[in-house]
Amino acid sequence: MEKREQMYEGKAKKVYATDDPALCIVSYKDDATAFNGEKRGTIMGKGVINNRLTNRLMRLLMENGVPTHFVEELSERDTLVKRVKIVPLEVIIRNISAGSFAKRYGVEEGIVFDEPTIEFSYKNDELGDPLMNSYHALALKLATAEEIEAIKAYSFKINEVLKAFLLEHGIELVDFKLEFGRLPDGTIVLADEISPDTCRFWDVETHEKLDKDRFRRDLGGVEDAYQEVMRRIIGD
Ligand code: UDP
Repeated sequence: MEKREQMYEGKAKKVYATDDPALCIVSYKDDATAFNGEKRGTIMGKGVINNRLTNRLMRLLMENGVPTHFVEELSERDTLVKRVKIVPLEVIIRNISAGSFAKRYGVEEGIVFDEPTIEFSYKNDELGDPLMNSYHALALKLATAEEIEAIKAYSFKINEVLKAFLLEHGIELVDFKLEFGRLPDGTIVLADEISPDTCRFWDVETHEKLDKDRFRRDLGGVEDAYQEVMRRIIGD
């Protein structure tokens, strides 16, 4: 399957059409942004790592009954996926307090929750992805009630599968963001990526940050952290 015209360029990925209208090719870049695009940079090798990690985790989820857009890894940076209409909701699951949760509620990072939390934000860069609840999403007709129920159930299931898998590799899954899409028949599937760009990963022993917070907060060792996650999950 070959790339045809570019359909879209996002902050970290480009999307190309293919000869098959039901499929497209995602190409992962090394570009990094944070704070809604205010901070920009390059993380050398990130595109390769995020492509391979996402595909490994998508495969794991499919083996565990979660439908995804994944079809086939084509190269280091390129993956064939099913073409979907993205539901404009970002779903965030949290197991441990961090980031905007810690800031919003005035608590320290690292509080381990008894049960995971879920929140939605409206995927809209101009508005800065505002937080919303499922009633707001319904009012704005971003998704149907049935779709929201499916998205919630898949998100918690994904959390359980990923949490257990990552722990086997010495990684604590602190929080993460998911996006879902609709296939032409209306089926909801997991889309987008699952990587250190979209998850918080902490070393289980030292709680060292192994994710994009190293870039956001200028902690140094950004490339090494991405490499380390790759090494633990996939090997060198
Ligand atoms: N996240 C993301 N994209 C976004 C916002 C958040 O991938 O536009 C991820 C982020 O990497 C983290 C989780 O979602 O793993 C929760 O992020 P949070 O709400 O704490 O926001 P942040 O502190 O990253 O601004």
